[in-house]
Amino acid sequence: MHDFAQKLQQPSLWPKVLDYVQWQRSARAAAAAGQPAPDMPDLAPLSVNLDLTTACNYKCDHCIDWDILNSKEKHEDDQLRASIERMAARGLRSVILIGGGEPTLYPGFVPFVQFLKGLGLAVAVVSNGSRGDRLLQAAPFFTTGDWVRLSLDSGSNDVFRRMHNPSSATLTLDEICSWIPKIKAANPALQLGFSFVITWKGGSRGAVKIIENIHEMVMAAKRASDARFDYISFKPFLERQADGAEVMDPAKTESELQAVVARIQQNLADARAAVRPDFRVLASTNLRVLMAGTWRDYTTQPKVCHMQMLRQVLTPLGTFNCPAHRGVGKAMLGGKELWAVPAAAQHATAQILGGFDASHECREVTCLYNSTNWWLEEMVGSNAPLPQQAPANEQQDWFL
Ligand code: SF4
Repeated sequence: MHDFAQKLQQPSLWPKVLDYVQWQRSARAAAAAGQPAPDMPDLAPLSVNLDLTTACNYKCDHCIDWDILNSKEKHEDDQLRASIERMAARGLRSVILIGGGEPTLYPGFVPFVQFLKGLGLAVAVVSNGSRGDRLLQAAPFFTTGDWVRLSLDSGSNDVFRRMHNPSSATLTLDEICSWIPKIKAANPALQLGFSFVITWKGGSRGAVKIIENIHEMVMAAKRASDARFDYISFKPFLERQADGAEVMDPAKTESELQAVVARIQQNLADARAAVRPDFRVLASTNLRVLMAGTWRDYTTQPKVCHMQMLRQVLTPLGTFNCPAHRGVGKAMLGGKELWAVPAAAQHATAQILGGFDASHECREVTCLYNSTNWWLEEMVGSNAPLPQQAPANEQQDWFL
């Protein structure tokens, strides 16, 4: 499980969390007394998901961001850099280059990774793997704790091509995996992950039927282990509902769910038996709660989502409050380079903290930040003195 609350209690992050909680306490006290709200302290998110581009060279049947791909909107590189610099000066510690699009297709991908590392930020990349050459060029800039995860979702070339529909007529899973030993040799500190979204019969994206891959879980784990990845991460297929929220809806196939869960559990056990001793077979938080039957517990959110302050999503289409609402109008804080003017971005963040009712808007989302939000809500709602000393040890893990 991700323990985001634990991460927030590290000495490197705790002072910013304290500033935020203290400000929320004063804002609520002012509201109760009928007084004007105090200004937000000079904060920025501690972590961002940054979509460098909406362009993609695949047409994945299971793509969660289908509706926002290949738009005409683009980042201006110098303005984007200025925004990130201003955020870094206010507490930003990590950037996940992800999409909404394929990050390695951004024309300045490699220099942008170098720029982020020059600011001392932790950097991660989620890629479709089609541009192994660019990942190899960027590899030397990463440092310990950084990671690159490839969304591959298959064990065979055939299922890979049918699921992802790459624009290249010749690209195969074999070719993508052939880059991994080279990238690892260029930088052994960089963690390399193989991501596998599990699909089973009955899934759909609108009218598009999803190709099943559950039978390739073990094959994929063995392939990833042989190719020198560090781990494989399995997660369940998510769908966007009509209001844009990203949800897990296993109830759709409730009658078959128990059989599907049993197959997944067996495949996980078989995968663990088929790989190198130092290779990790991971189940994502969503998958764990699906298998445990507790996923609905993660759909009850507090009214205020505090994570909107601590982690935001920057895309060419605008700045959003959460990856689960990427591209959705009511979750938009402002334009793509909102943080180029920090005071305006802080004002927009204060507004969405007050106006976005997560208890309603996220009532169907299996939220990974659920327990962290409730922990923050408890601190905000309490009068107890806050520990000035960071409660946790430093792990230098700043991805949120
Ligand atoms: S409650 Fe969860 S899903 Fe909703 S905006 Fe916050 S982090 Fe995202």
